[in-house]
Amino acid sequence: MNIQNNKFDAIVVGSGPGGATVAKELSEKNKKVLILEWGDNWRVRGTNWQTAIAAGIPGRSLLVTNGMLSMVRGILTGGSSIFYYATAFDPPVEMLKSYGLDITKEVEEIKAELPVEPLRDDLIGPMAKRIMQSARDLGYDWNKLPKFVYQDKCKAGCWRCDYGCPYGAKWNARMYVEKAVENGSKLINRAKVNKVIVENKKAVGVEYKKWGSTYQAFAPKVILSAGGIGSPVILRKSGIYGAGYDYFYDPLISVMGTVNDIKGGKEFPMATGMHMEEEGYLMTDMTVPRSLYMLFAAEVFRFHKLFSHGRTLQIMIKAKDSLGGRVTYKEGVRKSLAENDRKKLMKGYERAKQILKNAGAKDIFKSWYVAAHPGGTVKVGDILDSDLKTEYENLYVCDCSVIPEAWGLPPSFTLVALGKRLAKHLAG
Ligand SMILES: Cc1cc2nc3c(=O)[nH]c(=O)nc-3n(C[C@H](O)[C@H](O)[C@H](O)COP(=O)(O)OP(=O)(O)OC[C@H]3O[C@@H](n4cnc5c(N)ncnc54)[C@H](O)[C@@H]3O)c2cc1C
Repeated sequence: MNIQNNKFDAIVVGSGPGGATVAKELSEKNKKVLILEWGDNWRVRGTNWQTAIAAGIPGRSLLVTNGMLSMVRGILTGGSSIFYYATAFDPPVEMLKSYGLDITKEVEEIKAELPVEPLRDDLIGPMAKRIMQSARDLGYDWNKLPKFVYQDKCKAGCWRCDYGCPYGAKWNARMYVEKAVENGSKLINRAKVNKVIVENKKAVGVEYKKWGSTYQAFAPKVILSAGGIGSPVILRKSGIYGAGYDYFYDPLISVMGTVNDIKGGKEFPMATGMHMEEEGYLMTDMTVPRSLYMLFAAEVFRFHKLFSHGRTLQIMIKAKDSLGGRVTYKEGVRKSLAENDRKKLMKGYERAKQILKNAGAKDIFKSWYVAAHPGGTVKVGDILDSDLKTEYENLYVCDCSVIPEAWGLPPSFTLVALGKRLAKHLAG
């Protein structure tokens, strides 16, 4: 057993939007933070093979539910934000307020600190534009979506957003980790935290594994930010057994149709869309890299469509699902897609078909179900108090697992706000 004891003020476990924000904010308040990250820290190149390693290994970064919905999470510095589409939906401020969590100020701070704007017209690809026009012709209130993007660095006609932007255009959590390290924090990669060390109901450190050896690290505050699946498992192994139940995973499908007058397939995904709040789903354009498109087509046996990537318009339907299921001790995900949630997706499918047909698309088909953004596994108001503290003194959680209700929209903006609020609380 090796001991890491460099007199840290806090240990942050995981470096996605939740953890990276807490680390960066604490480091700006002169706190020395130890960041323990399970994944690697290689330079993001936006290539197929890097994505396969960081987000495609079954049981690690590619999880499959008992209902055969696949769920991808990024296991590397920056977490899933390396692969996300940078869509910055306004946080559910009122919903969180009803749990005693007011992030109004933090939301304003983020708007001043990060770029939160729709893409310029020249950065929106021809496929997204065609879909938006078609939806508007049919009377939908379909608009550009706000993005965390440094637009001066973004390149039109680029396909790499999904696989990690190598140009630094997409804001991601790794940028905050780098700031924390510049400010004196320490990042240890390939460090998988197993449990929290608790003495007399007080967290005093964590135990982690690196290259097969076990280490312990100590600090007066411990913040778990291992994501919606990782954090509840660490909590259970640390004696908080109620974590990991009744969660959400935002199920989605893609609806695809081929047109003959566009040769594209390389554009920023989720540039435009519409939130059908009452019906409980979100519809957006979605262009994915060719390899991913081929996987979507093959999964539903559309082998004759495998080579139509550059001519295929795609609409994503993502539903707000009902809470349910459980996470297992081995980070397995058990949850069935409720009939009501399947119906929401089918309603969206009918609307998407109509929009695609109106855009001139033929041969319309839908992908198999996918799950995105798992969360709600360590809910505020249940396992956490309104300061994100657990029943143990000095042990906090800050990531997608803390969101108390299914909300159905991409959560990164909210997680950055929660991270800022928690850092203020911890810094006293
Ligand atoms: C393809 C895709 C597109 C998306 N698009 C959007 C979008 O447009 N907008 C949006 O807001 N959201 C989007 N998301 C979702 C968003 O990326 C996640 O919700 C967000 O990253 C979750 O942040 P987090 O801090 O909860 O956890 P994560 O980002 O999952 O980070 C958790 C970190 O903890 C590490 N970790 C896990 N277990 C351990 C352990 N035991 N020990 C040490 N470290 C550990 C992981 O390696 C990871 O780095 C998308 C996600 C995907 C996959």
